[in-house]
Amino acid sequence: MQGLRVHITGIVQGVGFRPFVYNLATRMKLKGWVRNTSAGVDIEADGERDVLDAFVKALRDEAPTLSHIDELAVSFGPANGFRSFEIIHSESIASAFQPISPDVAICDDCLRELFDPNDRRYRYPFINCTNCGPRFTIIKDIPYDRPKTTMAPFAMCLDCEREYTDPSNRRFHAQPVACPKCGPKVWLERLNVGKLELSNVDGDAIQETRRLLVEGKIIAVKGLGGFHLACDATNAESVIELRRRKLRVDKPFALMMPDLATIERHCFVNDAERELLQSTARPIVLLRRKSVSNIAKEVAPNQDFIGVMLPYTPLHYLLLEQTDNFPPALVMTSGNLSEEPIATDNDEARQRLSSLADAFLMHNRDIYIRCDDSVVRVFEKEINPIRRSRGYSPFPVKLPFEVPQILATGSELKNTFCITNKNYAFLSHHIGDMENYETLKSFEQGVEHFERLFRVKPEAIAYDLHPNYLATRYALERAEHDNLPAIGVQHHHAHIAACMAEHGLDGSQPVIGLSFDGTGYGEDGAIWGGEFLIADYKSYQRPFHLRYFPLPGGDASIKKPARTALALLWSLGIEWDERLASAAEFNKEERNILRIQLEKKINTPMTSSMGRLFDAAAALVGVRQIVNYEGQAAIEFEALADPDEAESYSFSLNQNEVEVRSGIEALIKDVASGVHTSKISARFHNGLADAIRVTVNKIGEETGIREVALSGGVWQNLTLLRRTLSLLRVDGFTVYLHRQVPTNDGGLSLGQAVIAANRLRG
Ligand code: ZN
Ligand code: ZN
Ligand code: FE
Repeated sequence: MQGLRVHITGIVQGVGFRPFVYNLATRMKLKGWVRNTSAGVDIEADGERDVLDAFVKALRDEAPTLSHIDELAVSFGPANGFRSFEIIHSESIASAFQPISPDVAICDDCLRELFDPNDRRYRYPFINCTNCGPRFTIIKDIPYDRPKTTMAPFAMCLDCEREYTDPSNRRFHAQPVACPKCGPKVWLERLNVGKLELSNVDGDAIQETRRLLVEGKIIAVKGLGGFHLACDATNAESVIELRRRKLRVDKPFALMMPDLATIERHCFVNDAERELLQSTARPIVLLRRKSVSNIAKEVAPNQDFIGVMLPYTPLHYLLLEQTDNFPPALVMTSGNLSEEPIATDNDEARQRLSSLADAFLMHNRDIYIRCDDSVVRVFEKEINPIRRSRGYSPFPVKLPFEVPQILATGSELKNTFCITNKNYAFLSHHIGDMENYETLKSFEQGVEHFERLFRVKPEAIAYDLHPNYLATRYALERAEHDNLPAIGVQHHHAHIAACMAEHGLDGSQPVIGLSFDGTGYGEDGAIWGGEFLIADYKSYQRPFHLRYFPLPGGDASIKKPARTALALLWSLGIEWDERLASAAEFNKEERNILRIQLEKKINTPMTSSMGRLFDAAAALVGVRQIVNYEGQAAIEFEALADPDEAESYSFSLNQNEVEVRSGIEALIKDVASGVHTSKISARFHNGLADAIRVTVNKIGEETGIREVALSGGVWQNLTLLRRTLSLLRVDGFTVYLHRQVPTNDGGLSLGQAVIAANRLRG
C-alpha cells in the first residue's frame, strides 16, 4: 500500500468535481479524502501503486464536462491508514486563488425534469444541478460553498438536503440546489396607478407575463446577470415603443428564440454557429436573417444580421414555451436606459426601469455581480467574440508566461478590466461605456470583487494614455493612493499585445501589428486609429499610419460623419461639391463656419483613424450623414459591398503614411457618374486591403517579420478582414486574429496587463 497526494488547479469547483472523485475512488476501492481549497482540489488516497496510477489517469480522462484541469500535481508517500473515502470540509487558504466557473446554461437532465409532471421540481424556474446553473453571478467569495453565495438565505428542505449530501446524486454539493418548497420564487409586479402591486406567485406569474407579452407589453424580466426588457419581436409596434422608451434609435436588439428549429426558420445557421448557440455559455450569436422571417425589421434596422440566443435558464424555457399564440421570438435587451449599466437589484429595477417596463417578472435570488449577455459570431468556422461576458467571464486567458499581479483598467468604451496572477489573465465581464457615474460605480465594484475573488493585490496599475478616460483617472488616483507604479500603455500597442497574448506568443519576436479602430490617444496628442506597428510586449515602432486629416470637434464629430467627410475633402484640397450628400447636409453658412474652423484649427485635432475614414467614405457615398450608435455608418456601408466586385480604388504609400487622396478622388468620381453604391463600397474595401498588403510587405521586407496580428474594432468589418487575410496569406504571412477576447476595446485591458507586466520586470 502507498499514499497518494494530488493537487488539482483549474476550473474544478462548482462543476461536480468532488462527487466525481468520490465515485471514482469508491469504484476503485481507494480510501482517503477529497476537498475543495481556495487553490483548487486536494486529494489523498491509500492503495496499491497500479490502482493509484489508474486513478490518476482516470482523473484526467473522465473529468466532468464542465471542469477544466490546468495542472494536476501528483506525489507518493507512505500510506496513511485511511478507513473510508470521504468528502471533507473546504479549506480556505488566504493567499491562494483559483479560477471560478462562469454561469452555465441549464443542462439536458434538468430540462427534462423541468417539464416532467412527475418530478418534484416540475415547472420550477430555479432548477439546477452540479452540471448547470448560476455560478459567477451568485458567488461572493471562495471557496465556492453555499454560505458564500446569494443562496445563503435559503435553508434547504429535507429532500434537497438529502440530494445535496448524497455523493451518488446529480445534486451532490450543487451549491444553488433548490426546490419549490425551499428555494427562490418568482412573482409579477404591475405598475398600477403609480403603485406597485404584488401579483400572483410562481407558475401563474409566468403565465400572466406571457399573456402580457402576447398583448404587446414590455416586461422587465430578472435573469441571471441582470434584468432584460422583453417584448414580442414580431410585433413592430412593441419594438418601436421599446426603442422610444429606451432612447435607442437604431442599435440592434438581441433576440431569444425557444429552440434551434425556430432559429433555423428565421436565420441561416452553419455547424459552428449551431454549436455556439447550444454551448453552455449560450451567447448571442450574430446570424444572417432569412427574407421569409416575420421578425419585425425594427429589431435591427438596415442590417442583414440579427443577434439570437437560446434560452439559458429554466425561467427562460418556461417563458418561451411554444403554444399556439405565443411569438417565436422575444426581444431580450439589457434592462437599462441607453448607456447605463444593466439593472440587477429588485429595488434598483423598480426605480430605474419604471418608465421602461409595463410590468416586472421578479425573483428573490440576488445577483451579486452584474453580467450582460455575451455576443459572438463565427468567422472561418471559429468563434469571433464581440462582447465577452456571461458564460465566458471570469474564465481566464492562459498567458504564455508568469506575470506579476497587475490591474489593467481598460478603455472608455466597451470597458473591461483585467487582473493577472501567475499565468492567468482574468478579464472582467462587460462593464460598458464609462461615460456616467453608474458605470464607473459598476467598474469599481467589479474591480474590488475580482481582487477579492482571485486574491490579487496589484503590484502595478496599467492604464490608457487618454487623460480624460474615467478608467485612466481611476488608475492614476488608485496608484497614488496605494503608492503603486502606474504604467501608461498606448491604446493601439495594447490592442496588438492582447492579440499576441491570447495566441500564446512569448514576445521574443516582434510582430507586424495592424491596429485599426475608431479612436485611441496617440503619443503625439493626435487621435490614432490606422496604425501599422512593429510590436512586442515592451515597446513598439510605428513605421506607417493612415494619412492624418483634421477632425473638427474631435471625438464629438463621431456622431456626424458628414462633417468628417467634408474635413477630409478640405484637407485633400477637394472642393465641397453641393451634389455630394455630405455637402448638401449643411447650408452655406454652416459650411462657412466649418471652413473657418478648419482653417483656424479651432478644436480640430488631427486623426489617423481608420474608423473615421470609413465614416467619411460612407457619408460621401450617401449612406449616412448622422449616426445613432458607434460604427453605424461603417456597418451600413459594409453591408452594401458587392462581394463579386473585382475593381478597387488605389491608395498610395508615402514615406510613412498611407495616402488616401487617389482613392477618395476615384470614389467621388464614381458617385458623380452614378456607379451603384454596392460597387463603390466594394471598391473602397478592396482598395484598402490592397494598400494594407503593400504596406505589410514593405515592413516585412525591411524587418524579416512574417507574423501579423490584427486588432481593433475595424476588424469587425468582415469584408475588409476577409480580403486582407486572403491577400496576406497568399504572400506567406501568418496572421493572428482575435478568438478569445474581442477585437474591439473590450479586449484592450488584456494587452495593457501583459505590456505592464513586461515593463515592470524590466
Ligand atoms: Zn442540471
Ligand atoms: Zn428543497
Ligand atoms: Fe480601440
